[in-house]
Amino acid sequence: MSHEPIRNVVILGGGTAGWMTAAALSQALQNSGIAISLVESDAIGTIGVGEATIPTIHWFNQLVGLDEADFMAATRATYKLGIEFHGWQGDGHTYFHPFGTYGAPGDAVMAPHRLIRAWLGGLDASPEPYSLTTQLARARRFARPASDPRSLLSTLGYAFHFDAGLYAAYLRTQAEARGVRRFEGKVAEVEQDGESGFVRSLTTDKGDRLAGELFIDCSGLRGLLIEEKLQAGYESWSDWLPCDGAWAAPTPVEQAAPPYTRAFAQEAGWRWRIPLQHRVGNGYVFSSRFQTPDAARETLLAAIGEPSAEPRLIRFTPGRRKRAWIGNVVAIGLSSGFLEPLESTSIHLIQTGIGKLLSLFPRAGCDPLLAEQFNRIFRREAEDVRDFVIMHYHFTQGRTEPMWRHCQTTPLPDALQYKIDQFRASGRIMLAPEDLFRDASWFAVMTGQGIRAADYNPMLDAGSDAANLQHLDAVRAAIAQSAAQIPKLP
Ligand SMILES: Cc1cc2nc3c(=O)[nH]c(=O)nc-3n(C[C@H](O)[C@H](O)[C@H](O)COP(=O)(O)OP(=O)(O)OC[C@H]3O[C@@H](n4cnc5c(N)ncnc54)[C@H](O)[C@@H]3O)c2cc1C
Repeated sequence: MSHEPIRNVVILGGGTAGWMTAAALSQALQNSGIAISLVESDAIGTIGVGEATIPTIHWFNQLVGLDEADFMAATRATYKLGIEFHGWQGDGHTYFHPFGTYGAPGDAVMAPHRLIRAWLGGLDASPEPYSLTTQLARARRFARPASDPRSLLSTLGYAFHFDAGLYAAYLRTQAEARGVRRFEGKVAEVEQDGESGFVRSLTTDKGDRLAGELFIDCSGLRGLLIEEKLQAGYESWSDWLPCDGAWAAPTPVEQAAPPYTRAFAQEAGWRWRIPLQHRVGNGYVFSSRFQTPDAARETLLAAIGEPSAEPRLIRFTPGRRKRAWIGNVVAIGLSSGFLEPLESTSIHLIQTGIGKLLSLFPRAGCDPLLAEQFNRIFRREAEDVRDFVIMHYHFTQGRTEPMWRHCQTTPLPDALQYKIDQFRASGRIMLAPEDLFRDASWFAVMTGQGIRAADYNPMLDAGSDAANLQHLDAVRAAIAQSAAQIPKLP
């Protein structure tokens, strides 16, 4: 195995994943002497959707050195404080998944237990007034989280809605300014080492030949290198997540748009509504097993009215590549798998792919042990996010359409069933340190989807039921007072 350093990295694909990777590598590898090239095809284009993020986006934006105001202007971004779910327990039902935590500052883990205790004692209250982030979202107010852990503002969290195509273009300017060389053309030939199978070069239909020691496959759903050349294999999650297509269409700007995503359960899937500065993004994720694409298109149009552009159909299979790193090829973005955007996790998974690549950055020989570690963590992260999404589909008791009935009766993955059992028994949310969604998110979605806990953490028994209610009243009042002082969005 070669212990020579890598001299050339080649990125295949100029979608959001390709340019995020180029921006991050060009920042992290500055002064290393490593040259980075990116090849993309205007004729093939990008997937052209992707609008909502989660708070981990701040990590990435800081990594690549973005100024927030500049970034928001360039990508026509709006603030996102969470997701409002409509109809997931039947028509008329709503709940909110806020970013940030519940309760008083520093009480993120115990606040859900306080609420469970109050509910078991007969209190009939929504968790919403106990989340400052939710209160701001409801009132169209916005403040950044405070770093002082004693401040109520430390319980806040936020992310962005943005135009992922503009984000890619914005990152491209940064990456090119740091020396990334872009080639336009369709990769027509992939040269591989006869013995090791390592990719040696890509040649475009325009005759450009890009040689390198490390190749990042950001070629989108088809996985040109990782699947078509290296046959990684694909693990489908369709048994749990039956949706396999989406119609997407914009509508004109919404006045006084809410600072959150809305996700509406529909007869054979769900519909998103995402406000940006220059348009509203809409889409209907549906299962073709339960509704034809034509009927799904009609469902979308009936809900959104006249779109400002023709609806586009995108087909996919939810799942992941069995291996995302093989030899000297690392798949990042849609080439590594697809999970529907219900909890806006694809861009996050691009970030974690980049993060893993940076921490496991190889020498030219690409030690297979590094690939092994990458693939282990990748699997764990993908399954963790998958399980969070499956929970939304399974616990939909108020919905009676065939697709929802199907999801309600499909057995859960073991790790998710374990989490649900633990929560039901003792109110505990069993998380591993590396799990993406934390207590507040699991609590919001579990309770929002109708899962009830039969007990709470007995550490709270040091105080009486009445003292617990008093505490909750005080938190609720402090949150209401704090929210009223925070400015409204324009
Ligand atoms: C309906 C839908 C809604 C989504 N919503 C969200 C969301 O709200 N939030 C979120 O985080 N994510 C969302 N996603 C996912 C998000 O769109 C993607 O994760 C993101 O755009 C990254 O895509 P990509 O760069 O991996 O692939 P693509 O955008 O498909 O880019 C692939 C690139 O590879 C190039 N390429 C391919 N083959 C060749 C070749 N032979 N030669 C040269 N170049 C080639 C293409 O030209 C292109 O530049 C959504 C996805 C879908 C389908």
